[in-house]
Amino acid sequence: MTTLDDLVASGGLRSSVSITGLTTYKLGGPARYYLEAEDEAQLVSIGEALEDEPVLVLGRGSNLIVSDDGFPGLVVHLGAGFVRTDLDEHGTVTSGAATSLPALARTCARAGRGGLEFFIGIPGSVGGGVRMNAGCHGSETKDRLESARVIDLRRGEVGDRKPDDLQMTYRHTNLRADEIVISAVFSSELREPAEIEETMREITRWRREHQPGGTFNAGSVFKNPPGDSAGRIIDSLGLKGTRIGGAHVSSKHANFFIADDGVCAQDVYDLVWAVRRRVGIELDIWLQPEVQFAGSFRPSPDEGAR
Ligand SMILES: Cc1cc2nc3c(=O)[nH]c(=O)nc-3n(C[C@H](O)[C@H](O)[C@H](O)COP(=O)(O)OP(=O)(O)OC[C@H]3O[C@@H](n4cnc5c(N)ncnc54)[C@H](O)[C@@H]3O)c2cc1C
Repeated sequence: MTTLDDLVASGGLRSSVSITGLTTYKLGGPARYYLEAEDEAQLVSIGEALEDEPVLVLGRGSNLIVSDDGFPGLVVHLGAGFVRTDLDEHGTVTSGAATSLPALARTCARAGRGGLEFFIGIPGSVGGGVRMNAGCHGSETKDRLESARVIDLRRGEVGDRKPDDLQMTYRHTNLRADEIVISAVFSSELREPAEIEETMREITRWRREHQPGGTFNAGSVFKNPPGDSAGRIIDSLGLKGTRIGGAHVSSKHANFFIADDGVCAQDVYDLVWAVRRRVGIELDIWLQPEVQFAGSFRPSPDEGAR
């Protein structure tokens, strides 16, 4: 039976690959095994070598905190072969999973296809957007998703899933870590390109005014509790600027945690749990992380809190 080590030996896979530059936090250690996939066949065939190795599908790394020890299994990243956007005359938009969401929004705007302009503000990939049911400014991926093509990496099975199959709720789907979205089909509607571009400019302007930029953070750390905003809650306790090591709560938006250049991922991890505990103890609101942790972290002293 072929193993991942056999694939490394034959050049089909790389080992000990730094993935720091593939995340917006620019933190964390290497991938034990790394596959830059260029086509569906490579992904379908990897299953027979996977055994029990853990899998991390890495999109544009804009919602991820990778451990300083790296990821102990296989990291799969989709390459240029998965970057494309096709539009048909009925307004159906088919996009490869490695396409960036802002690029998708711009392509649709140029073609006069409205409804996907909210993606301009989300620096992830189409695959990551589906997995996270990403959204902002009153829209979510599930509002526009018609189907996603998914490969079960362990079984090597490919299939199309509808939003209902994916059980998409706020920043959640039922996709497992070893299932990879390779493309997605969205609906759109005909609209004037100038009107769509004006909406995108307004979204961009609002984000520049209210949020830090897209580097050294992973967007919102916590999900918003129903009817409230995690940023408002954290800010209400005066926690902007709270620091652990090289990580601090942004002074611009309290639900964004910023890492100084070259700090430990562990600092960000500890800050997440420290802020959660403080909010929980003072307000009895137990925030749920939206960011995804990959690899293993030292247990934080604050992590055990409810
Ligand atoms: C400045 C900033 C602003 C942000 N604003 C928003 C916002 O307004 N709304 C919002 O929802 N999010 C926001 N985010 C978070 C992030 O951009 C989204 O969650 C995005 O959908 C993540 O996509 P990604 O490709 O970067 O995924 P990654 O960060 O690489 O991965 C996130 C999760 O998705 C999985 N994944 C990635 N690609 C695939 C794939 N092809 N198939 C299956 N699973 C996959 C990963 O395994 C991981 O579990 C923001 C982030 C930043 C840095």
